[in-house]
Amino acid sequence: MNKESCLFCRIAKKEIPSKIVYEDDTALAFEDINPKAPVHLLVIPKLHIERVSDIREDDFELVGHLVSTANKIAESRKIRESGYRIIINCNKDAGQEVTHLHLHLLGGRKFSWPPG
Ligand code: AMP
Ligand code: ZN
Repeated sequence: MNKESCLFCRIAKKEIPSKIVYEDDTALAFEDINPKAPVHLLVIPKLHIERVSDIREDDFELVGHLVSTANKIAESRKIRESGYRIIINCNKDAGQEVTHLHLHLLGGRKFSWPPG
């Protein structure tokens, strides 16, 4: 998947509409189109990184920023105390469908463990 045809790169460039809830120079957060919980947002880097296993030392600051962004959104959506999940699916067995790194921020209901 090259970045020209990457769905989330195109969302970041506003070529494809999305419900953006947060944006800065390096990160974007938007509503998942098929929500699995009352709060279900995706937090992505604007940089095209394909999967979490591709993260290199140069990306550590960026990845920390993505987690921090998810935490801030959890606070603003009032799920910080009740709880939330940050999920990163990597490759086929985990069910990664979009080949651009994304953190799922899920909350607003109780989740079971272990995940299915
Ligand atoms: P994953 O299975 O971890 O790759 O998650 C991909 C997520 O992207 C799924 O939860 C989809 O519902 C979501 N998704 C796919 N297309 C869009 C889109 N155009 N806008 C927002 N979310 C999307
Ligand atoms: Zn991309």
